[in-house]
Amino acid sequence: MAAPWQDVVRDAAAVRDAAAVAVDAALLAGVLMRTGEQPLSSDVVNYAPFTLLPSAVPRALFEQAYAVQQDFNLLVDAISQNKEFLEQTLASTIKVDDFTARLFRIYMQVLEEGLAQTVFLGINRSDYMFDCGLDGTAALKQIEINTIAASFGGLTSRTADVHGLVLKVLGKTKEASRLLPNNPAKGLALGVAKAWELYGSQSAVVMFLVEEVQRNIFDQRCVENELWNRNIRVIRRRFRDVFEKGSLDGSRRLYMDNQEVAVVYYREGYVPQTYNQQNWEARLLLERSRAVKCPDIATQLAGTKKVQQELSRPGTLEKLLPGRPEAVARMRATFAGLYSLDEGEEGDKIAATAIADPARFVLKPQREGGGNNLYDEELRQVLQKIKDSPERTSYILMDKIKPQPALNYLLRAHSPLQVSECISELGIFGVYVRQGQEMVLNEAAGHLLRTKAIQHADGGVAAGVAVLDTPYLV
Ligand code: ADP
Ligand code: MG
Repeated sequence: MAAPWQDVVRDAAAVRDAAAVAVDAALLAGVLMRTGEQPLSSDVVNYAPFTLLPSAVPRALFEQAYAVQQDFNLLVDAISQNKEFLEQTLASTIKVDDFTARLFRIYMQVLEEGLAQTVFLGINRSDYMFDCGLDGTAALKQIEINTIAASFGGLTSRTADVHGLVLKVLGKTKEASRLLPNNPAKGLALGVAKAWELYGSQSAVVMFLVEEVQRNIFDQRCVENELWNRNIRVIRRRFRDVFEKGSLDGSRRLYMDNQEVAVVYYREGYVPQTYNQQNWEARLLLERSRAVKCPDIATQLAGTKKVQQELSRPGTLEKLLPGRPEAVARMRATFAGLYSLDEGEEGDKIAATAIADPARFVLKPQREGGGNNLYDEELRQVLQKIKDSPERTSYILMDKIKPQPALNYLLRAHSPLQVSECISELGIFGVYVRQGQEMVLNEAAGHLLRTKAIQHADGGVAAGVAVLDTPYLV
């Protein structure tokens, strides 16, 4: 998988020149983040961290990831409509994991009342690594599907141009012309716009449900501006605003500050720390409403690690998507080994195996956002401690994917320029819209490549570990 720039990667002078051009190009292109010191103001901004060089990605695996995305869209949507499956799958988890339990309770409450929502919008991102086999061949292996607040579709729409310029500066003009155009921001906005249109109220707005601390606002603005360009009004609100000012009318239409809301696009709400009692109430209000939630609470639950693990059991995909054996085969080909830690013999056995050989596995709790997984010695210690307690059930085990590292430079504000051994993770954005039982839109909307130094087992861009990248197909 060697990229064709191994000749320049050690040329200190060329790298220094290219890095200076790269940083300014990123600022000009809008590859931006607010700073940690001033996360609520755009007075001072930095470039979002990115690689100096585009990373090599095997063309066949890249195409495989695109080809399976519509299948994953259908799957997530099918799970979200399958109460029996969600109930059974999460039964053991919600006994021990309070966060999943609270989400699940809202899900049940909304079902009992009866859904007011008739249009459904899914925006997800399926993430993969390239697992290097013993014979050196790479295979596409899914890390997870993010069904809520999948980010960086905006900023990554602007990184290919930056990397193209860097390659030209390094004398790689022909290679620069081979970088693929990529515009997930536009694809995501098309999905939101379609949902807004089907909701059917010209004067209604799209509400971005955003965090208290908004460092990654520019990523969201990319999607917002695409909507404004289609003459769709966008407002940004936090859970606490919804608690204070949100209301439902008699037919459960959602109003914020006297404006009707057609679509609620969550860029927040996937970690327990977000929720105090008021914010849980706000979440319930949104879920009960007629507005199109992206995602609705069922689709958020479909993205849990526990669901992912159950999907890998023989026969499960077939049951969820009957009559689609080809889609099932395409999806299954991307699955790594996943193991239940539920109480019983199966869980006992795999727990013992992982304690004996922790380097083979990743231990994952039901959390999102990076930095929660356990590896190696820490995995061993934690599993040893909880192996005979029900707490074990709140985790799953997964085979560790081992990609082939490559040299690159991770450009970060205020950090020295130094070469690192890196591995990459490819994400494909999926967008779908369903009205009643009819799928009206089902697409792959673009890609995201994130790269990190091999010293870090975990963590995404927002966590300060991975950086934005552009695939160079080989
Ligand atoms: P989160 O929901 O917190 O993002 P992920 O499952 O995506 O959880 O894991 C976070 C990060 O940990 C990934 O981006 C990847 O770098 C690493 N990781 C997760 N699963 C594996 C795995 N099976 N093998 C190797 N690395 C993994
Ligand atoms: Mg992830």
